[in-house]
Amino acid sequence: MTAPMLRLEGLKKTYGAKRALRGLDLEVPDNEILALLGPTGAGKSTTLLASAGLVRLDAGKVSLGGRDVTDIDPSARDVSIVFEGFNLLPVLDVKDNIAFALRSPTYREEEAEIRTRVGRTAELLRISHLLDRDVDTLSGGERQRVAIARALVRRPKMFLLDEPLSALDLKLREGLRAELKQIHRQHRSTMLYATHDYHGAIAIADRLAIIDGGVMQQTGTIEEIIALPANVTVGRLIGSPSMAFFDATIVDGSVRLAGGAQALPLASFGETRLGSGKIRLGAWPEDIDVEAVGGAGANSGTIYAVDNRGFERAVQVNSDAGSFRKVLPSEQSFKQGDACSFRIGSGFLFDATTGARISHLGGKPA
Ligand code: ADP
Ligand code: MG
Repeated sequence: MTAPMLRLEGLKKTYGAKRALRGLDLEVPDNEILALLGPTGAGKSTTLLASAGLVRLDAGKVSLGGRDVTDIDPSARDVSIVFEGFNLLPVLDVKDNIAFALRSPTYREEEAEIRTRVGRTAELLRISHLLDRDVDTLSGGERQRVAIARALVRRPKMFLLDEPLSALDLKLREGLRAELKQIHRQHRSTMLYATHDYHGAIAIADRLAIIDGGVMQQTGTIEEIIALPANVTVGRLIGSPSMAFFDATIVDGSVRLAGGAQALPLASFGETRLGSGKIRLGAWPEDIDVEAVGGAGANSGTIYAVDNRGFERAVQVNSDAGSFRKVLPSEQSFKQGDACSFRIGSGFLFDATTGARISHLGGKPA
């Protein structure tokens, strides 16, 4: 086994009283794009800054390519970091911005080599026509391309990308995402890509690392995470719409929805030892059927909101056990305020207090 390109162990960081990282562990294998997915404030930027050596950690260890770099200077780490709204140097034109790091004391490349590399990188990012422009005449999308080119031209061991596309409009974002993937394929570079955007994360990454509250919640492919989400936090961050949660009770060997008609046998969850009591049932919206009112054995709900999405509609269903959102084909023409029924086809059990997943299987109705 070769060492992962990046290994973070037990990272802790507080800013004043704010605990940004609380014992964070993460491994990014060589040649992989790993998406670091989490909401605002989760600790994504701090994780990237720590990897680059740009924040002082309270505890923990950072290794790059098997080497402990915890106390090594940022300039000696051979990683490149790209921020959202990256600071380009306004006094320099595009080509000098891209070449900047190569002329630094760390690299000090030959001018001919610099010109070749800047030219090649500019081609890759389709900014060759901008090389002589001043950076303050560029659009947001062009600037972000220059920022990425500037990171790329160094050919570091690893790229740390902190929401590099978040400020761009949808079309530019999709275009640049495709180019980043292409660069990754051609150069086999290792990337840690921080984002709060679920769609962006699964579009670019081989695997996801889900972070919240300064702690790693789960890592895996999207298929692995959907098959067995680690906890309620993961369920809330995955899917579009995300996982539905219901209040439920275990009674007589079955999981019963609060105020609902459905009962799912405990045995179907691979769990027979659980005692009676409150539990949370989580289900992916894809595993819930929403029907017209009156289905026998179905739970009742109300259509609280309908969002038109053109080819489909997203509805919010409210019920005594909890509310959830689901995309429906537009021929199911519910209106706001309609009564409806819903049926859970498969779900997971989570601890009602801690949110940790308890069941080993997706349980089903009898
Ligand atoms: P993310 O990038 O996921 O939004 P950050 O790593 O930026 O998360 O922040 C994690 C937590 O630390 C947040 O609660 C944030 O408010 C706090 N934080 C980050 N940087 C600072 C700072 N320089 N000073 C004080 N608090 C900070
Ligand atoms: Mg951030």
